[in-house]
Amino acid sequence: MYAIEIKDLVKNYNGFLAVDNISLKIKRGEIYGLLGPNGAGKSTTINILSGLLKQTSGEIKINGVDVSKSMKGQNKVLGLVPQDIALYKSFTAEENLKFFGELYGLRGKKLKERVDSALEFTGLTDVRKKISKEFSGGMLRRLNIACALVHRPEILIMDEPTVGIDPQSRNHILNSVRELNKKGVTIIYTTHYMEEVEAICTEIGIIDHGKLIVNGTKEELKNLVCDKKKLIVSLQDIKSLDINTILNINGVVDVDFCENEIIISSNKEANNLEDIIKTLNSSNSEIINIKYEEVNLEQVFLTLTGRTLRE
Ligand code: ADP
Ligand code: MG
Repeated sequence: MYAIEIKDLVKNYNGFLAVDNISLKIKRGEIYGLLGPNGAGKSTTINILSGLLKQTSGEIKINGVDVSKSMKGQNKVLGLVPQDIALYKSFTAEENLKFFGELYGLRGKKLKERVDSALEFTGLTDVRKKISKEFSGGMLRRLNIACALVHRPEILIMDEPTVGIDPQSRNHILNSVRELNKKGVTIIYTTHYMEEVEAICTEIGIIDHGKLIVNGTKEELKNLVCDKKKLIVSLQDIKSLDINTILNINGVVDVDFCENEIIISSNKEANNLEDIIKTLNSSNSEIINIKYEEVNLEQVFLTLTGRTLRE
């Protein structure tokens, strides 16, 4: 069953199409990354999904239930970490968590347990009595996440949860996402940082100008850009190499040179690494370094849109 199904979603802000007919399905148990530059329509999509904003048209199902008209009864299933931090700055960390827990109907011992566990999970136990105003950017982001988790949602929606924070808090958050996912929480993670999506997401949608331009696993997306695998070999003395011996290797389709490197392109399925190394070794040129080229999501975005993610 799908955790989320979005069909033909449109959001028109007074004539401006912020979400332009998006359809996507998110399986239970995924960490789904919604990747796109600023202004792509990520927050608009997420806010409609969480019931904060009304769509112009389109259908949304959560756990198979149509919530296009009303989110009634679905609020407890979802947790939202909003892009703009939504906390009471004059409250302590603990008071903020209690407030959100009570909103979800938690009381007494259960509330206390959930508050403790959310503080523990986000690494804020030591500062639970501190007023949030005094928190660093990273701590505020973590508290923002803790507040979305206190009612233990099955689906957690995170809108750019790592913007403007230190690397340590960022790592803490990325690890927390993985951990939550292991416990069975489905995660929808929006960001404009492709490294984050690469690091944690199991399924990825790339969004640009309100349109979902592609959707799939990391491997599927990368295969769109390049159906060959490229081996990059640095050689001590590249001139002594006979290129025909390489071109004759099973699976090799092309050879290129760049300074002291040779770039050997093979069919994806070819299993020829050992042959290539043997052939190179039998030439009079020592191998200094050897690696497969990494295709990243930035290249995928560039190929599909003609622009870089950060333009
Ligand atoms: P993202 O989260 O990917 O950065 P948003 O969903 O926030 O993108 O915004 C998508 C587009 O919609 C942007 O061009 C933004 O300026 C516009 N937009 C967002 N909110 C409003 C609004 N309330 N009224 C008019 N335009 C808006
Ligand atoms: Mg946004």
